[in-house]
Amino acid sequence: MWPKLVILCYHRVKNYKSDPVNITVSNENFLNQIKFLKYNAKIIHPQQLFDSLKHRQNLPKRSVLLTFDDGYSSYGETMQTLIDNSISAIFFISSRKYKFWWDVLSSRLLEAKTIKDIDYKIFNKLIKMAGGNFKLEKELDIKALSKINQWKIEDPNFPYNRCRAYKIIAKKMDEINPYEKNEFFFMINNITKEKRNFSYLFNNNLIKYHTIGAHTIGHYDLANLSYENQKEEIEGNKSFLETHIKEKVNVFSYPFGMQYNYNDDTINLVKNNFQFAFSGFQGLVHKDSNMFELPRFLVRDWSKNEFQVRLNKFFNI
Ligand SMILES: [Zn+2]
Repeated sequence: MWPKLVILCYHRVKNYKSDPVNITVSNENFLNQIKFLKYNAKIIHPQQLFDSLKHRQNLPKRSVLLTFDDGYSSYGETMQTLIDNSISAIFFISSRKYKFWWDVLSSRLLEAKTIKDIDYKIFNKLIKMAGGNFKLEKELDIKALSKINQWKIEDPNFPYNRCRAYKIIAKKMDEINPYEKNEFFFMINNITKEKRNFSYLFNNNLIKYHTIGAHTIGHYDLANLSYENQKEEIEGNKSFLETHIKEKVNVFSYPFGMQYNYNDDTINLVKNNFQFAFSGFQGLVHKDSNMFELPRFLVRDWSKNEFQVRLNKFFNI
């Protein structure tokens, strides 16, 4: 048995109001998690993993690598926190210009006390188009709002129609091919005109310390797309990142990351463009792992104790 590596997959580190899809870790929990790792594991540099896979050499015992997916505006702070703790990580960045639809749904449906008139009209139309037959609560009191903020998409109950709306709109978005003309998709994109912030890509101190990886332009389920559209998504994102950081981008992570979220076309394109690729399904990495489907463990907003229990489980999988 050779030593095995746990690759952790984070998304966003931030203090948040709502997080229906469970991808955000609060600042406090994140600091506690990395402190725990510093004393109870061996945090490796991304280059150590690349060398280990290239030369098929073992890594130290209880090795852990940190990765971050999507490219949220908080990445500048996260990168700096890691530098302050001498930790180098991989950041996979999607390059779509506007905010992700799941963030827009969170801020406008789950965090807004009052839904703006224009949004209210659009959301009610989207609900109808997604097969729903209910109306949104336009105005909420503080108590109701805090209940909605706590709501998670996997909850079987919907305390308010705003939660029900989030769920059916998200489900519909999962089924849509964004490259086919589709009114639903068009409408969602029309509410999501808030631009994303990529300022961390212009900060040399941050970029040189960490590794920047590709994560497609639009963050779609690649298995739904034609070869040509996948090529555009993958290569367009790679050239966007390389132009910004003025360096080659050699690593990729599959959006959503499960094996059903990509296909043979994806893997061929990824092999033509990158040296290593990361998935989202669970598993340990060893020196003979497949370099184009490296498994990872998703990290949630766990306290230090919970994180400790989870990490021990990961190492024993
Ligand atoms: Zn992602």
